[in-house]
Amino acid sequence: MSAIDVLEKLEEREIEELNRREFFKFCGRMAVLLGLSQTAIPRIARAVEKAARDGRPSVIWLNFQDCAGNTESFTRATAPSVGEALLDHVSLDYHEVLMAAAGHRAEERLKEVLKEYSGQIIVVVEGAIPTKDDGIYCTVAGRTAIQILKEIEPHALAFVAVGTCAAFGGIPKANPNPTGAVGLERIIRSKPVINVPGCPANPDVIMAVLVHYVLFNRLPELDAQRRPKFAFGKKIHDTCERRPHYDAGQFVLSFDDYGAKQGYCLYKVGCKGPVTYNVCAAWRWNMDASWPVKSGHPCLGCSERDFWDRYYPFYEHIPKTGGFGVEARADDIGKVALGLTGLTVGAHALYTAVVKSAERFAEKLASKAEEGTGESEGKDEGGEA
Ligand code: SF4
Repeated sequence: MSAIDVLEKLEEREIEELNRREFFKFCGRMAVLLGLSQTAIPRIARAVEKAARDGRPSVIWLNFQDCAGNTESFTRATAPSVGEALLDHVSLDYHEVLMAAAGHRAEERLKEVLKEYSGQIIVVVEGAIPTKDDGIYCTVAGRTAIQILKEIEPHALAFVAVGTCAAFGGIPKANPNPTGAVGLERIIRSKPVINVPGCPANPDVIMAVLVHYVLFNRLPELDAQRRPKFAFGKKIHDTCERRPHYDAGQFVLSFDDYGAKQGYCLYKVGCKGPVTYNVCAAWRWNMDASWPVKSGHPCLGCSERDFWDRYYPFYEHIPKTGGFGVEARADDIGKVALGLTGLTVGAHALYTAVVKSAERFAEKLASKAEEGTGESEGKDEGGEA
């Protein structure tokens, strides 16, 4: 064996090792996101690996009235790499944007999957569905989005509407809604629909919905808007890193002022974080690098129903919302609420500690698995929170 061969082998081993570590890290993050204890990590790893081995669940990803931003978001999931996640751990059988096949071959593949996995398919839908004029404003391979969905519906186990367009109609539905766009829940009647809104949806949340299914063999608990409770139970305002500034009455008043440079709260330049439910502040985008508020832009409330019409103009105070009352508070809060600062800083510190601790635990498991003792860790299984 030449030196180059040895080096190549070494490289392969290192890559495998890295993937294994990344995989355990991913399982750790999923445990935190799903509200499970660290001891659930080996169980998650086994469930995901078993699903990969058995080729279940089969996942079909459809694109309708959208910009493919959710696909973009998904391909930048924190860990593992999208190739590993899609090809090794989840059976993604049809995705118009990512699959190699195109045209007739792609459509044939869709038919094969419907036949082969009927009743076991999770259908991910990205984009709104136009209903005006028999839905002619969005067609794929000569069929309207409605026809495609109606054909797939009997074969599906469940539907996941990723992104605000698929969940609630989003931007295509914005006034005057020229194509009669609606969210998936208005089309699918006989199968469960899970909404993962966001523009784009958070990639870790999309993965966590799938992981929840392979782990517990059932779909996650949903709120009244069909959103998974594990991800949409808190307002962005509750976990935002700028919250201490809100509580201290320190606000950005224009995007080039002293407060903007200091990272003050963006509420007075239109932030909708106090009325928006999502995990953005805790689970960021682009390999966990950042999210809009961190980069200095107010939250637009993009994961809320009809945000485009309800929250416009985007760079002004939130219009008065029944029962909300943050506007009056924001103007007075600096005078009275300094005590809260410690609490919110504490909440951030706690969150960071939980994630870090899960990651450390996952790293340890990966090392033990490499030494051949990883299986014993799996005996200590966690339950659902
Ligand atoms: S108003 Fe916006 S920027 Fe300010 S703390 Fe809340 S979510 Fe963060």
